[in-house]
Parts: sequence; C-alpha cells; structure tokens
Amino acid sequence: MMTRQKLTVLGATGSIGVSTLDVVARHSDRYEVVALTGNSRVDVLYDQCLQHRPRYAVVGLGADVAGLAARLRSAGLATEVLAGPAALERVAALPEVDVVMAAIVGAAGLQPTLAAVRQGKRVLLANKEVLVMAGALFMAEVKRHGATLLPIDSEHNAVFQSLPSNYAGNPAGAGVSHILLTASGGPFLEATLERLQSVTPDEACAHPNWAMGRKISVDSATLMNKGLEVIEARWLFNLSPEQIEVVIHPQSVIHSLVQYVDGSVLAELGNPDMRTPIAYALAWPERIAAGVAPLDLPAIARLGFERPDFVRFPCLALAYRALRVGGNAATVLNAANEVAVAAFLDGRIPFLAIAGIIAATLDAVPVRPMPDLAAILAEDEAARAVAIALLERQPA
Ligand code: NAD
Ligand code: MG
Repeated sequence: MMTRQKLTVLGATGSIGVSTLDVVARHSDRYEVVALTGNSRVDVLYDQCLQHRPRYAVVGLGADVAGLAARLRSAGLATEVLAGPAALERVAALPEVDVVMAAIVGAAGLQPTLAAVRQGKRVLLANKEVLVMAGALFMAEVKRHGATLLPIDSEHNAVFQSLPSNYAGNPAGAGVSHILLTASGGPFLEATLERLQSVTPDEACAHPNWAMGRKISVDSATLMNKGLEVIEARWLFNLSPEQIEVVIHPQSVIHSLVQYVDGSVLAELGNPDMRTPIAYALAWPERIAAGVAPLDLPAIARLGFERPDFVRFPCLALAYRALRVGGNAATVLNAANEVAVAAFLDGRIPFLAIAGIIAATLDAVPVRPMPDLAAILAEDEAARAVAIALLERQPA
C-alpha cells in the first residue's frame, strides 16, 4: 500500500468540506483525515468524526468542546476536541499533516490558511477571500516557504488545468494573452433592476447550477463572486486586470478558458460539481475518480455566452476598481462585502444596497499600503467598522 496523504479539512462542515470528504471517502487507500474543523454545526462535525476518525476536531465555541468530546468518547473515539482561532492554526500547521483543504468562508480563514502555507504544506484553496484580502503577502509566503498552492475554485482550477505545467506565473513566457473567467450569471441573470429591488435572501441563495454556502450564493447573485475571482486570478496567475475577462455562460459547463497569442483557446469542461476540482487538486499531478457523472454534451445541446452587465451588477465593476487601485482596496472591498452580505441575509438591507455599501466604504477609507499581516488585519477591521456605520444609516 502507498503511504497515505494526511489531511486537515478547514471548514469541513460546509459545502466544500462535505464534497471534500465525499472524495476522500472514495479513496481511503490514499488519504487519511487528521483534523476536521467546523464552526457551529457541531452535529455535522460529530457525524464526520464518526466516519473519518480524525485525531483532532475543532469547533468555534469553547462552550461546545466538552459536549462533543463526551459524545465522541462514548462512541469509542479518542479524537481531541479543540476550539477557536488558535486551534484552527494549530491543526493547519501540524507536522504530520501533508495537505490542508482551506474551505472556511471569509476572512476567518486567512490565518489558519497562512499557518499551513508557512509549514510548506500542499494547500488546496477554496477560501478565495484569503487572496482578495491578502493576495500579495499570501503569494510571497507561498514562495518563501515552498508551499504548493492548488486552486479549488472551479474557474481557477480550470485555468490551472489549461495552462502549461511550467507556467510559473509568466504569461508572456507561456504565450498567454488573457484568461476568460466564466460566470453563470447567478439566479438574477435575467432580472430587471426593478425586480432586483425586492429579491429575498432565499431567492438569492437559489443558485441555478451550484449548491453552495449562503455567503458565496449571495456573492454569485450580485456577481461579486466573479469580482472576487478576478482578484483571486490576479494573484494565482500573476495577471494584470486587463488580462482577466469575464464572460457570462449560463450553463456552467465551461469552467474557464485561456486565450493564447496564436489564437488557440484551451478550456476545462465538465458537469458543475465541485468534486471535480477537489479530486484534481487532491491527486495532482495524478487523476482520481470523483464520483462525477461524465459530461453528456448532446443532452446539454447548447452553450450560451454573453457580456456581463456592469449596470445591473455594479459589484463586478467595484472589484475591478479595487484591483486597479491596489494597496488596501481589495481588503476593504472584501470586508465591506462580508458585512453587507451578512446584513442582507439577516433581512436588514435590500439586495441592491449591498453594492452601495461597498462603494461607499471604498470611498470612505483612504488608500494605504499594506506592508504586513498586522496592517492587513487593521484594514479589514477598519473597513468593517465603516461598513457597519453605513449600514446603520440605511433606511430599513
Ligand atoms: P459554507 O458556508 O457552506 O461553509 C463554510 C465553512 O466555514 C463551514 O465549515 C463553517 O463551519 C466554517 N466557518 C464559517 N465561519 C467560520 C469562522 N468564523 N471560523 C471558523 N470556521 C468558520 O461555505 P462554502 O460554500 O463551503 O464555501 C467555503 C469557501 O469556498 C468560500 O470561501 C467560498 O467562496 C469558496 N468556494 C465555494 C464553492 C462552493 O461550491 N461552495 C465554490 C468555490 C469556492
Ligand atoms: Mg468559482
């Protein structure tokens, strides 16, 4: 038997975490789960522990530790239960761990993911907010510590697969002219501005092609998800904003494309199922089965494409703006978006107010350089405070 790769899954109880464990369970000869983390869904984490028998489980609140530990002990497991941000960093950096799946949502994932990078792990990155808020520092740390960074986001995974293996962040050297990130357009692709005024959180979370966590579902509905992905691509592939184009493709069959200078365009296609990029990154450079049905092109029959509408979806333009401004702007954009999306999901602001709050936060926070992690965390906190103050001024 080959030596099994030892795995930590940060955000195991979420949509990406569950898909990751599904792939892992199909290959118990290759992967061994060492640590699982979840925030509040302790029952889901308990069931995952029963199945995968990790050495560590991490919950969000210290108050949940004793209960989960007792239940696991009664089930005959020796899993050690920990809580809080320091425990997330610890299980991401364990010396025995080879691979870390970074699938926490939002800024909360930054420090645990960095902890894995600093130990030179193979890091499978779903948590795109990490690159949006701290792209320059994160990529520098990947390089310094010799970590292997593999993109899980389906678009970036598709681009990665469509680039030459010796790409090394050099588009000109590889003959790459630009990349095309596909976007489904989300549930409101055809909605008028008037209709967008009154959409509810549940309508925003009903994505036509993908079943995802609620935050990224709202991001998909505003197209901020694509905006975050433009910034993510800038860092992963060392591209300028002009080299990153967004194309609406409602079927989500083409997961993204690379345009070369000779006119060739390479793409990765497949059914919209995150287990494909997860399996790819787990096994890279090999390939393993993911439980995904083969693509049936005649059944799909037609693929459509259109240009994005920056008027109905101003969040996409805001992300390009933040990328061009540089400095703290993407960190501010990400923080304001997290605050605004949470307020929308809580029913405190209408859908169209999300973009307004992000724009006003970008206007209010001066552009500053971000020399280190402390500066990044300070910018994140300051932008959240500005966005919250703006929220409180919103008419209900
Ligand atoms: P989700 O909401 O389903 O799961 C989030 C996970 O993070 C859960 O395990 C939760 O317990 C954990 N978590 C949340 N807040 C936390 C905190 N403060 N501290 C510690 N843990 C916390 O989200 P998801 O859809 O699985 O997305 C996860 C990440 O992957 C996001 O960054 C998202 O943008 C990205 N992503 C998701 C998909 C998808 O199909 N779901 C696709 C591409 C990228
Ligand atoms: Mg994506």
